[in-house]
Amino acid sequence: MKRFFLTFALAAGILGGCTENHDKNLQKLESFIQNDTSMTGNLRTICKEYPARLSGSRNNAGAQEFIYRELNDMGAETSLMEVEVPNWFGGESSVEVIFGKQRLNIPSVNLGLAEGTGGKVIQERVVEINTRRELGEKDVKGKIVFFNDPMKGHSDYGRAVWQRRDGIAEAAERGALGVVIRSVTQFMDSHPHTGSLIYSPNAPKIPAVAISTIEAEKLSRIISENRSVKIALSSTAGTREGKAKGNNVIGEIKGSANPENIILVTGHLDSWHIAEGAHDDGSGVVIAMNVLRAFKEAGIQPYNTIRVMPYQDEEVGLQGIHTYSANKKGSGEKHIFHLEFDLGVGAPKEISFYGDSASTARINNLLAQYPIGYKSTPVLKHAGVTNHFSTTTQLGSMMGIFIADNDADYFLYHHASNDNFEVVDQQQLKECSAAVTKLIYLMDRLYK
Ligand SMILES: [Zn+2]
Repeated sequence: MKRFFLTFALAAGILGGCTENHDKNLQKLESFIQNDTSMTGNLRTICKEYPARLSGSRNNAGAQEFIYRELNDMGAETSLMEVEVPNWFGGESSVEVIFGKQRLNIPSVNLGLAEGTGGKVIQERVVEINTRRELGEKDVKGKIVFFNDPMKGHSDYGRAVWQRRDGIAEAAERGALGVVIRSVTQFMDSHPHTGSLIYSPNAPKIPAVAISTIEAEKLSRIISENRSVKIALSSTAGTREGKAKGNNVIGEIKGSANPENIILVTGHLDSWHIAEGAHDDGSGVVIAMNVLRAFKEAGIQPYNTIRVMPYQDEEVGLQGIHTYSANKKGSGEKHIFHLEFDLGVGAPKEISFYGDSASTARINNLLAQYPIGYKSTPVLKHAGVTNHFSTTTQLGSMMGIFIADNDADYFLYHHASNDNFEVVDQQQLKECSAAVTKLIYLMDRLYK
């Protein structure tokens, strides 16, 4: 009993001693989300009607229109923010391995921003590279490089991704004619996983593709068993002349007390050219949209403006969020919190939080009082530096990146053609939606 009074006083203190019944409001939001079917329907539409939503593409424009219409229909104030996006197209690619008298076709995908071969076939000897150091030691001039440095587990991504992000530039600087990489995933599967590369300004933009981990093992075996192995590589990826345009879609409910204070919730509406983009990031888009719908349906008026923004071009050039931040700088709006959902669906686990440690403690106190998950409830983990997801912290905003418990399967679907509607667990999607919506409610009440 004594403990009850202590925690009650703490909660009342944190939320300014207001007379509102927060438990009841949170319950209203949760029961709407539990019983709602529109979020699943929206995810299905985005994935099935507008797959391969690369920014600048026709399907991207279709998804953008659909999302705008949905936000309007739920009664949000809507607007569009124009974004200049990379004019890149994914095209097709072909990898043929030639050894002895045999020729073997291996399925592949172009890497993001890769330039193609203009329809030509490059046929050259292949050199396998297993470590970054080896790239500096082996002669790759005039050859095709095969990067085969396996990712060893979920947390090894940041290391293993060098093959895609930096390896291609380095190989080109050393005279390589093309690159084939082992997909950056710890799983042995048959799906090539794409992702963006970075070209060197001092070397040619050589073609670069990914093959699946199973095919990478096969290719490595062929190389070890044969004296001479060649690869015939062709690609129709490329960049069109001029810039392409897209729009960040904005939907909001104006705050009743502090309309100039912004609480922002984002997911990106673009996806890779080979995928429905369900985990990445159709789920983030529908979860953000559902925050507004839940507030509307539960009849809860926010004190601060709650803004959701399905935005452009996270995958290839990060222009959507950068454009937003540049646009809002000096606008008079005060961004107090930005929540990003872009790491896939699963049971809510934690929120990687970019803010001072006093705020971290304060919000965690609140989450201890008002759990936001169903079975598990995430807590804030203080993180020191902002990552690539957002430049909104430069607007003075605190930021959170929502993390679900999906270490066991996230990289099964990451940037691959199997990231489709069917692989998203709809109950977990609801659980994430409820956690995000309740967190936004608590942040709104905290900054009354
Ligand atoms: Zn993403």
